[in-house]
Amino acid sequence: MATGNINVTAENIFPIIKKFLYSDHEIFLRELISNATDATLKLKHLSTLGEVKGDIGNPILEIKVDKEKKEIRIIDQGIGMTGEEVEKYINQVAFSGAEEFVEKYKDKVEDSGIIGHFGLGFYSSFMVAEKVEIFTKSFVEGSKAVRWECDGSPQYTLEETDRTERGTEIVLHIDDDSLEFLEDNKITELLNKYNKFMPIPIKFGTKEETLPLPEGAEEGAEPEKITVDNIVNNPNPAWTKNPTELNDEDYKAFYREMYPMQFEEPLFNIHLNVDYPFNLTGILYFPKLSKSVDPTKDKIQLYQNQVFVTDNVEGIVPDFLQMLRGVIDSPDIPLNVSRSYLQADGAVKKISSYITRKVADKLISLFKNDREGFEAKWNDIKVIIEYGMLSEEKFFEKSDKFALYPTVDKTYFTFSELEEKIKPAQTDKDDKLVILYASDEKTQHSYIEAAKEKGYEVLLLDSPIVSHLIQKLEGSKENIQFVRVDSDHIDNLIKKDEDKISKLSDEEKDKLKPIIEEAIPKETYTVQLEAMDSNANPFMITQPEFMRRMKEMQASGGGGMMGVGNFPDMFNLVVNTNNDLVGEILNTKTKKKQERLIQQAFDLAKLSQGLLEGEDLTTFIKRSFEMIK
Ligand code: ADP
Repeated sequence: MATGNINVTAENIFPIIKKFLYSDHEIFLRELISNATDATLKLKHLSTLGEVKGDIGNPILEIKVDKEKKEIRIIDQGIGMTGEEVEKYINQVAFSGAEEFVEKYKDKVEDSGIIGHFGLGFYSSFMVAEKVEIFTKSFVEGSKAVRWECDGSPQYTLEETDRTERGTEIVLHIDDDSLEFLEDNKITELLNKYNKFMPIPIKFGTKEETLPLPEGAEEGAEPEKITVDNIVNNPNPAWTKNPTELNDEDYKAFYREMYPMQFEEPLFNIHLNVDYPFNLTGILYFPKLSKSVDPTKDKIQLYQNQVFVTDNVEGIVPDFLQMLRGVIDSPDIPLNVSRSYLQADGAVKKISSYITRKVADKLISLFKNDREGFEAKWNDIKVIIEYGMLSEEKFFEKSDKFALYPTVDKTYFTFSELEEKIKPAQTDKDDKLVILYASDEKTQHSYIEAAKEKGYEVLLLDSPIVSHLIQKLEGSKENIQFVRVDSDHIDNLIKKDEDKISKLSDEEKDKLKPIIEEAIPKETYTVQLEAMDSNANPFMITQPEFMRRMKEMQASGGGGMMGVGNFPDMFNLVVNTNNDLVGEILNTKTKKKQERLIQQAFDLAKLSQGLLEGEDLTTFIKRSFEMIK
């Protein structure tokens, strides 16, 4: 038996590790299972090279918990270690890894996001164990099994032992303050979280399986039950397979495997697979988003060689795709660094733009191959796409090929189709193409109808970031302008050369204007006299596009004019001088009756904009009843 001192520079490193990793101490299991998996994969590899004697069979890992003895065992059938290797890898290499960790992170405990990502390795077992034993036997012929023991002090014991099987068994003697890890439920939870898709089968206990009844079995016969290994992981998850091996159902099945609590099927998926200039595989899903979706749950998961690392993919996946689900697996993402470093890292930037490109390409092919299906999904994916168009220039450039602009009549145009369709009719006298849109079919109904009557197309753009999007489109396309249908009278929205003749003379107009101004709140409403069709409504309320858009942009964050959000809403009262009622208002002799007519017409205009409420509404209803009495 040999004893020795681990080469410590710090007085006693283990209490420090414990303290640092306190909130994340559950990662010990992930670390030990990763080591066991590596040792098994190495054995498999050496075996294919013919360097291992005999058949290695199908090696698995096993986790055993003995609550009474307060022990957890992690057992593998991998390459094992000789005594010398334990000396080297456990006493020296593993230790220096731990020491390096402490050096690097002792000032950064608060940045706990990174701690769990750092592969502290074997020594993380001391976060939960007061004593650790290793029983191991190398695959190398003739090597002797050894037992190593350490109680968390710098001192260790190393001696020969009589183990006969190849591989390593780690025995953790669990500390009294970590007894929760002796619960089967806790271990199952951790295995599920970190090891669900690891490449070597992991056994945790056994389970009963019911065999199907043999053919011709008697009625009422009991099916036979057998006890089988409880394998907790799927060693061959879908993302590790070639896309050609998978069909639609396989992708959906994998989605259910990842998110068992999601009952809604994903809309479509994107299989990522690249090995140059970086390694990355994965599958992303576009989920059906709804208001009830909790964005903090069921997020994209990041793996490194099938080991779960985190579900915080900020910086790796572009912001606009954070609402997607699925997995990304890459050994090339540096995890032991802070978020800000990650964002500046060249490889990570490439990964992010690769993902953006793949998503755009997928959208293009979906649109091309099944336009009808794509249109049907548009409402569910538009927010993500519009956000992407705003935030990623490359994505914006590609979006011309798949971004859709639906009309209120549910025709879906691409931008160039839209331009084509509306070109002569909606080009104004200055050669500008005017694109009309509505944000709400109900409240803007009369304005939509007025536009349609003229033969114009009206888009329905109702997502929350639309004002930013149209601002961007106006800035990047030539000679176009978006205007909401209720921002002015339709003849003013698309100005043509022909001037309408007004039934009222200039003197009459000069007389009319102050009369109306006096009867309405002029801090909020500006009176605007217009010669329109005589059957168009006499009064109409509009809200100028510019101010409203700036306010909306400010309300939804970012861009636009500073401080406009604080301005009160301003409206125009458009008065149709060709409508007979307006002539009647002007010619009414009794002041009181004139005022009543203006009030009634004004309230009706407000009503059609959804602006009549409270006391004004009550007065209006009273007055209306009076009038029909
Ligand atoms: P890392 O895994 O990052 O190299 P660890 O501290 O986890 O660091 O382990 C140190 C070394 O100990 C490993 O590189 C490996 O050589 C050896 N080792 C650890 N666990 C096992 C195991 N189960 N079987 C064989 N070798 C192991």
